[in-house]
Amino acid sequence: MHNESEYKYLTSDLTILKGVGKKTTDLLKRKKINNIFDLLWKLPKTYTDRSLSSKIKDLRIGENHTITITPQKYNFPRVRNLPNRVLCNDETGEIECVFFNSYEGYIRKILPLGKQITISGKIGIFKNKYQLANPKYVSEDSSLIKQKHNNYSLTEGISEKIYNKIINQIINDLPILSEWHPKKILNKFNNISWNDSIKELHKPENIGKNKKNFYQRLAFDEIFSTFLVNSEIRKKIKKIKKENKVFDLIKQKKIIDQLTFSLTSDQKKVLDEINKDLSSSTKMFRLLQGDVGSGKTIISILSAFNTINSGFQVSVMAPTEILARQHFNLAKNILPKNLNIEMISGKQDLKTKKDILTRLSDNKIDLIFGTHAIFQKKVNFKRLGLIIIDEQHKFGVNQRKKLSDKGGNNCDVLLMTATPIPRTLTMTVYGDMDLSIIREKPKNRKPIKTYSKLESRIEDVLKFIKKEIRLGNQIFWVCPLIEESKKIDHSSAVKKFEYLKKIFPNQVSLIHGKTSIENKEIILNNFLKNKFKILVSTTVIEVGIDFPNANVIIIENANKFGLSQLHQLRGRVGRGNKESSCILMFKSNLSNNAKKRINILKESNDGFKISEEDMKIRGFGDILGFKQSGIKNFKLADPIHDKDLFMLAEKEIKRIEKSNENISKFKPLIKLYDRADIINDIA
Ligand code: ADP
Ligand code: MG
Repeated sequence: MHNESEYKYLTSDLTILKGVGKKTTDLLKRKKINNIFDLLWKLPKTYTDRSLSSKIKDLRIGENHTITITPQKYNFPRVRNLPNRVLCNDETGEIECVFFNSYEGYIRKILPLGKQITISGKIGIFKNKYQLANPKYVSEDSSLIKQKHNNYSLTEGISEKIYNKIINQIINDLPILSEWHPKKILNKFNNISWNDSIKELHKPENIGKNKKNFYQRLAFDEIFSTFLVNSEIRKKIKKIKKENKVFDLIKQKKIIDQLTFSLTSDQKKVLDEINKDLSSSTKMFRLLQGDVGSGKTIISILSAFNTINSGFQVSVMAPTEILARQHFNLAKNILPKNLNIEMISGKQDLKTKKDILTRLSDNKIDLIFGTHAIFQKKVNFKRLGLIIIDEQHKFGVNQRKKLSDKGGNNCDVLLMTATPIPRTLTMTVYGDMDLSIIREKPKNRKPIKTYSKLESRIEDVLKFIKKEIRLGNQIFWVCPLIEESKKIDHSSAVKKFEYLKKIFPNQVSLIHGKTSIENKEIILNNFLKNKFKILVSTTVIEVGIDFPNANVIIIENANKFGLSQLHQLRGRVGRGNKESSCILMFKSNLSNNAKKRINILKESNDGFKISEEDMKIRGFGDILGFKQSGIKNFKLADPIHDKDLFMLAEKEIKRIEKSNENISKFKPLIKLYDRADIINDIA
């Protein structure tokens, strides 16, 4: 059993370190390094090998060398701005150590005349003489210098030497933690302990060795701790007993038969999964994942119908009012006329709103659509049986949990997202939920033709869209923010709008981050009604809205976007059965690497595949804003390259769930890896 004191050292404040004062800890805190464990997880990126010594005659300018020299003569000019110098030599030549900011006393101390001193650093040249500016690695004890020194990504004000010293101190004092994994798991990593793994990880020669056992073990710990927390949440939700829904599948069939299309087999499969959950006696907490345009909405409406059939109310939340309204219209259209279907909208007058609230709390409304307003405190349901949330992939684990608590025990939860991500990442980000996936797209879809164009060839693009407009089609024109960090920088979109307006008078509108919500809704509605032809925007248009008449999307400065993002943007067209195109514009000729990336997009319309390729190139952290999702980025584990470890962790979690094992032995793991904020009350 674990003793708190075992890992107390690791969660201790930095001030307990010897030789570390307030100044240093403040600097580190600014980098979010608050305790000893945080420091351990700042891993060295590279190292400098100072172990081999050279003679002065063999020095190469611009390179790091370690030399043993004897200081011969000080030159301390008493003139401001002139550096202090020390002339040194060995038996083969001379070198000058130059100090720009150090005091005489300090220099006399580290470079005493006549003593043999080992120094290391980058060799420069000045007036035909070798020089070493502000040498940092200086010691009479050559063994202290002749080592491999880690290069940590440094905090300003803390030297590499001090940093290495602190880390060494921690590693020496590292407590031995009792093992939390069973033998069978440890065997996979050659039985290396957590402590030894950390030590190995900080050895310079091990940097980047991600196939070695110490790396694999620590990466596994990281994945496992995340999965364990997910599993605990899932277990808790599974324990919630609910009144099961009882419905009539013949009624469901009647609605499906009246659709203008038949469901794909994936749609049928996920509908079955959801129905099973609805009719079970435990609460559903399910994610419906499917690429843009895969047809998730109809599935959610059918599950809403079944829930209503069992005498419950359903609420559907969408990120924008327009999307909520589209869903509302679809429901009105395909569901039986005797159902009470409503929509809460910002535009409604107070009386209408009040009326809706009263009818909701009297169970006189069966199905309600709206934006997040639907979850305000004053909205009370009499008998809420299902919450459906569309396109909220930025909801973090905490938000989701709150949501599932909110509806009460009888309320099932269905989340929908069009963010196709590899399975390893889904397990990480959505591991607290059960998962349904629609992979296959409706058969009538024509592939979106994707082209790349230099911006200098804009005339070709204009010609192309003129033709499309003549055919009655509409166009999206996307301009990225020029500087990503400046969310208010819309200049490129504004400029393009002015430019296009002259060529297509009265046919162009503009939306950007500063457009008010009301105006945005008006513009989008007008676009939907085909009142103008070209919509210029930054990337503010949310996913999900169906613009059946828009079949061309032009994306400027396309290299500003990741592949997944481009795929999502492209998904705004090609939802109907028209031929559609996506034109990616670039400022200059593409490098071979960029061409490779763009070709992935041209050749595939499979969001899962594209995101996997994207992650291979860019790493997983950047993909579609998962940074905001509340899930901490992994430090070691990589969802693409460590797939095996993710699978192993999943298997181990399943085993633990099945055997009902006590998980208190994992407490340090969860505490240290700081996943505990999600479940404070773990045993
Ligand atoms: P998403 O999964 O991105 O939310 P939607 O549910 O908005 O996709 O569906 C996109 C379009 O595809 C809609 O116009 C919808 O009517 C249509 N659709 C859905 N399922 C099918 C199907 N099985 N066959 C043909 N069209 C379909
Ligand atoms: Mg959708």
